[in-house]
Amino acid sequence: MNADLHRRAEVLIDLDAIRHNIALLAERAAASGAATMAVVKADGYGHGAVPVARAAVDGGATWLGTCSLAEALDLRAAGVTVRLLSWLDSDDVDFAPGIEQGVDLAASSMGELSRIAAAASRTGARARVHLKIDTGLNRNGCPPESWPQLVKAAAAESDVDVVAIWSHLACADEPGHPSIDLQAARFDTAYSQAREAGLNPLRHLANSAATLTRPDLHFDLVRPGIAGYGLNPVSTDDDLRPAMTFRSTVVLTKRIAAGESVSYGHTWTASRDTTLALVPAGYADGVPRTLSGRMSVWLGGMRRPVVGRVCMDQIVVDCGDDEPPVGADVVLFGAGAEGGPTAREWADTIGTIDYEIVTGMYRPRVHRRYL
Ligand code: PLP
Repeated sequence: MNADLHRRAEVLIDLDAIRHNIALLAERAAASGAATMAVVKADGYGHGAVPVARAAVDGGATWLGTCSLAEALDLRAAGVTVRLLSWLDSDDVDFAPGIEQGVDLAASSMGELSRIAAAASRTGARARVHLKIDTGLNRNGCPPESWPQLVKAAAAESDVDVVAIWSHLACADEPGHPSIDLQAARFDTAYSQAREAGLNPLRHLANSAATLTRPDLHFDLVRPGIAGYGLNPVSTDDDLRPAMTFRSTVVLTKRIAAGESVSYGHTWTASRDTTLALVPAGYADGVPRTLSGRMSVWLGGMRRPVVGRVCMDQIVVDCGDDEPPVGADVVLFGAGAEGGPTAREWADTIGTIDYEIVTGMYRPRVHRRYL
């Protein structure tokens, strides 16, 4: 889409904020002797994987984590040279390009391990593998009962170097939740079994929440995602700075009389004569329709309610007796520093998490600008 023509709604990404957040997290990790893997999957949680990756490396990340191998290879193609780990693909993925490009690969099963080993033998290079143990999230990862077999097989595999064992926490964002210690204990057992199989792997377990609240679980490497983008999953008072602002402008204002109703379904009726401002951002641009009647924007130095239903391409703001000029800046969500709306507020209102709000901002029609 023509970048100059589709600036009707845009996300601003503050790369300094990302550098700052990663530096804060990396400092925490370093205090426990751990390195930092910034998680940049899903296009950097909607912030743009390549610029975020570079900012994270500037901030002190020495590893980057992606979900798919394709995401990791995109980073390599963009010239990112730090260690990369990719961890979840379909069973028909070809691991060979990853091995050739020096991407570390995750294996959760014998099947995955042997497909990685086969790809390594085809390329003639050794694959670097992180064996994933399922300690209780019950998603991907090797179940504990199959783990001894997996570590033995990996130790015997001549085309594979086992770099690490790792796992993922289910409830780290609820500090004190009993599952955290239970998962940590299972992780310890898995590590002992890996050592018994002759391996000497690194260990990594901590996401953002555990990086911030459980230094005892930092091990060799932490894997923060959301906190790097400035969103704090555990609401500690750490100085994290939200990196994303979603903004647009006023494109039209109009005066309506008391009794007039606004937008599809006429769900809102003006109780007094008022000025409406039209903002060209709707649910096709990432404004959830479920926020209809429940959101406000920052416009002209104050919060103003969005009235009537959120449409595909536009929202309508009630400005009372004020008349903002065409072109006036409208913040839909941002860092919230002056009291403006935040991604967390949107998430709380519609019953989701801020991860989903920011990740959902990767949309071709929404222009992305880096600060
Ligand atoms: N590690 C893995 C395996 C993940 O899937 C994720 C994200 O979901 C993370 C780390 C980062 O988690 P968070 O964004 O909560 O820090």
